[in-house]
Amino acid sequence: MSFENLGLAEPLLKAVSEAGYAAPTPIQAQAIPAVLNGGDLLAGAQTGTGKTAGFTLPLLHMLAASQKPAASGRRPIRALILTPTRELAAQVEECVRLYGKYLPIRSMVMFGGVGMNPQIEALRRGVDILVATPGRLLDHHQQGTLDLSRVEYFVLDEADRMLDMGFIHDIRRVLAILPPRKQSLLFSATFSDDIKALAERLLDNPQVIEVARRNATADTIAQKIHPVDRDRKKELLAHLIQANNWHQVLVFTRMKHGANRLVEFLTKQDITAMAIHGNKSQSARTRALADFKSGALQVLVATDIAARGIDIDQLPHVVNFELPNVAEDYVHRIGRTGRAGAEGEAISLVCVDEEGFLADIEKLIKRQIPREVIAGFEPDPNARPEPIQLGRRVLHGGAGSRSGGGRSGGSQGQGSGGGGGGGGNPRQGRGGSSGRPAQRGDAGRRASGTARPQGR
Ligand code: AMP
Repeated sequence: MSFENLGLAEPLLKAVSEAGYAAPTPIQAQAIPAVLNGGDLLAGAQTGTGKTAGFTLPLLHMLAASQKPAASGRRPIRALILTPTRELAAQVEECVRLYGKYLPIRSMVMFGGVGMNPQIEALRRGVDILVATPGRLLDHHQQGTLDLSRVEYFVLDEADRMLDMGFIHDIRRVLAILPPRKQSLLFSATFSDDIKALAERLLDNPQVIEVARRNATADTIAQKIHPVDRDRKKELLAHLIQANNWHQVLVFTRMKHGANRLVEFLTKQDITAMAIHGNKSQSARTRALADFKSGALQVLVATDIAARGIDIDQLPHVVNFELPNVAEDYVHRIGRTGRAGAEGEAISLVCVDEEGFLADIEKLIKRQIPREVIAGFEPDPNARPEPIQLGRRVLHGGAGSRSGGGRSGGSQGQGSGGGGGGGGNPRQGRGGSSGRPAQRGDAGRRASGTARPQGR
């Protein structure tokens, strides 16, 4: 299979070839003809599979093929791509620009955390493809600065994450202002009942395609657990980075406070590190990501939601400084390494408090992750698990204290855990399944949720 066989226009083939893509990935080989065919699409694919080109290439093709000569007035927005996070929105729009560079198509990215006026100006100049997070999109709509009445193509990217982040109400609002007749594409890494319900509402007789999930196929990722005491995690991380001369290490913490504290510690050890999370300004996040991509920054510390959509090819090392309390997040995290067939290494520093989380993860990925104790960092065999403090909430991640993981139920939360320490931040949202009204906003504004009561 080659890109030439997919029926894409010459300017797109040229851009793809310049991007260095030799052949379509499996999701592209399936999604591109399906979208060009004109029907709705439900696609199961995770970040790292090449899904973005899977929908941007056919969209660009169709928009260019049916472009009308500029009539009087502003050119209408013909395609809307909705993403859960600012970073993902920026990356998707970058792809649109990259693949569309030989086409007369204008695109724009829109998210919160930055001024509205430049966005209003850009809208005035005319946009064919708008890539947006839901909160800011609705802000513009309410202010009357955005007209979506001419949208012909609608893409919901990472729909599962959108629901996890409590965006269901925003999505419904967006759907209500879009024209009923349009081609809709829904991309999701998982097909939960909520996603199926959303698909039913949004899609008309969709073609369904699914490519192998990373948790089933992550054979190029070497996974390892380093058991360690909770208060020695920072030291162990610095040791691993220095002893192995690691560069480009993506480190995950559960909470923003933990991320900041870890950065302070690493910096004191002469390891260049920055944190990326929802409390950082957009410019700080963009700068940290750019420095990390260029290799100027050795370590990027991220929370799960901030890391969503980070696109760095062949990232060599991912470290779970704290295990996620939602097992699926482990799969998303390690999906950052070993991308596009490259080899990668995913290391987890696990203390006694997190044994239950580890059991959930191993159950999900259906394999045992090898344990390796690092000399000098042997965990205390008599250590007792402590509950993981989540500001006002408490999680029990110790062995035997969990009921079996998953996203539903009351065990969702964002703890400081392990070496992290307290915080007092509301957890990052998983409000979609909590039954409470979701707050509106993009990744920076979280929905609220439930947690297991203390002492369970
Ligand atoms: P995505 O899943 O869309 O986030 O894409 C993951 C990465 O794969 C991105 O860095 C793309 O540049 C890259 N990519 C997309 N399509 C191809 C392809 N056909 N061949 C090689 N790399 C690709």
